[in-house]
Amino acid sequence: MRLRNIAGSREVIGESDFVVHEPEKQKGNWRKIFGNNNPIHIEIGMGKGRFLMDMARMHPFINYIGIEKYSSVLLRAIQKMEKEESPLPNVRFIRMDAESIEAVFSEGEVGRIYLNFSDPWPKDRHAKRRLPSREFLARYDKILEKAGWLEFKTDNADLFHFALGELEPAGWKALGVSYDLHRDEKMGKDNVMTEYEERFSALGNPIYKYVIARDDTAALEPEGQ
Ligand code: SAM
Repeated sequence: MRLRNIAGSREVIGESDFVVHEPEKQKGNWRKIFGNNNPIHIEIGMGKGRFLMDMARMHPFINYIGIEKYSSVLLRAIQKMEKEESPLPNVRFIRMDAESIEAVFSEGEVGRIYLNFSDPWPKDRHAKRRLPSREFLARYDKILEKAGWLEFKTDNADLFHFALGELEPAGWKALGVSYDLHRDEKMGKDNVMTEYEERFSALGNPIYKYVIARDDTAALEPEGQ
């Protein structure tokens, strides 16, 4: 998603208390920002932030950080937050390219990673830019706590098959895979829809999802949130 450049979006972001500016300075200290010791879950490529904010309302004892590359998109998330009756205390946003995620979180600082409807980058030569690629999995490996896991949803069959093929070479394993999430009793339970998910499932597209952990992680039961 890339919206037209919106005049003034950088200024609004620069002044917003919901955005963490200079996020590298918080590396290793994210819990201080929230003023508690609750786990930190992040969504990379959060778009306008609907999923993240719905999750935050449902799970007040988890801290959520939404990462978005484009100012014009992040602006929409800020505007959505401003419309809340009272701002969600367990949500912060970062504007950055996730390529440098290791500069922002220390080893094991993140409890869970969400990738929702990530850009497909269909050309082979751009495979490294895909958020579920082995290059990105190596970055997530550094910041995700040992017992943590990553959840990925998409309606793009090619991207999903690519993502599944990246697991073994990157040293990850699937804890759960669904090829039709909305008709999957187990994996679809308590599903929280994203903006793209609502749009594409309304067109009749099946939604694919996997939940993955590192190969050497002891058996995990990713039930509930
Ligand atoms: N997750 C939302 C949803 O499901 O409705 C938005 C999906 S949209 C297709 C993908 C979003 O990921 C876009 O807003 C895009 O700017 C962002 N994005 C793509 N690559 C990124 C990267 N390397 N770092 C941060 N954000 C990224």
